[in-house]
Amino acid sequence: MKSDIWIIVQQRERLLEASTFGLIAEARRLLSRPAQDGVVVAVALGMGLEPELAQLGAYGVSRVLYVEDEALASYQGELFSEALFGLLKAHEPNLILMADSPETADLCPRLAGMLETPLVTRAADLRIDHAGKPCAVRPVSNGYLFEEIRFDDQRPLIISFIPSVLNTPDPGPMAPMEILTQPLNVSQARLKTRTIRIIEADPEDLDLEEADIIVSGGRGVGKDESFEIIHELARIMGGSVAGTRPVIDWQVLPYERQIGQTGKTVSPRLIINCGISGANEYTAGMEKSRLVIAVNTDPRARIFRFADLGVVGDLHLLLPLLISRINEIKELVSSQ
Ligand SMILES: Cc1cc2nc3c(=O)[nH]c(=O)nc-3n(C[C@H](O)[C@H](O)[C@H](O)COP(=O)(O)OP(=O)(O)OC[C@H]3O[C@@H](n4cnc5c(N)ncnc54)[C@H](O)[C@@H]3O)c2cc1C
Repeated sequence: MKSDIWIIVQQRERLLEASTFGLIAEARRLLSRPAQDGVVVAVALGMGLEPELAQLGAYGVSRVLYVEDEALASYQGELFSEALFGLLKAHEPNLILMADSPETADLCPRLAGMLETPLVTRAADLRIDHAGKPCAVRPVSNGYLFEEIRFDDQRPLIISFIPSVLNTPDPGPMAPMEILTQPLNVSQARLKTRTIRIIEADPEDLDLEEADIIVSGGRGVGKDESFEIIHELARIMGGSVAGTRPVIDWQVLPYERQIGQTGKTVSPRLIINCGISGANEYTAGMEKSRLVIAVNTDPRARIFRFADLGVVGDLHLLLPLLISRINEIKELVSSQ
């Protein structure tokens, strides 16, 4: 078991985060070196995740350790770290991979403290040198420099990656995979802390790198009041607003809302690109998004090459229809 690589599955509302698939790809890359006999083990804590976990075989996971309990439905720092600590002590993997998130920002130091083991967060890369020794790389000084971090022989190593450096692989054919479901073996009575509720930030204020849903507008949207349609769609979808460089140059949005080579690199679950041609400098900042929708009047627009769903049409006609349809569905759901 020792040469297996563990990845910690992250989920939101019972859907796996895109970073989970990127972590599997990283683990597979590390295991593809010569003389590696380990497998990728995904570790999941939650409730009702089995349908989502079942797809991991197609990405190269051999085994899933799944601790299922209602108490794990949403993140609880002390409870999650105790549950993982139990698994880690029982199986003793060498390497544990995670992706940076508000949850892992809490989980990583807890686990590293409990295990008295090395931890690197905000990792951009993990390399293995000629002697087989791992070396983590991470940005410092606002990304102007990178530092290399080497380790002594203490194991396991915990490495948490910047989500945007992780590449989501395409699924392959479904391979044999076992899901080992286990009960939660932590006495909750002795825990000192409990998360009572999560207070969600206003998506409009959320850092784009953290955003789950982004509605992004380009020059095709137009200035000032024309851009209100983008804010409206973002509001009803609980998303964040972003834009291309021309929109930032017009001062319709502040610079921190720019996506692209000279702006932010984003990897949301959903991005809706409206009136955006898809110049290379823009797509460099959003190509790792999970589901990409594009609305453009020009059927040859480059953005459609990146889109899972492309709509050829005038956004000023389409978006009001989409907004009223979403509102209708919301009303229907709330009346049930
Ligand atoms: C060094 C350098 C760095 C750069 N960095 C960035 C960066 O970080 N981010 C960035 O975004 N750009 C960057 N750029 C600029 C980039 O090259 C493009 O010029 C820019 O991304 C284009 O923005 P756009 O898609 O909004 O505008 P356009 O390219 O003008 O595209 C507008 C699109 O809207 C469509 N459209 C028009 N009307 C409608 C309508 N009513 N409904 C639907 N569609 C419509 C058009 O068909 C067109 O495809 C950089 C450029 C350089 C040289």
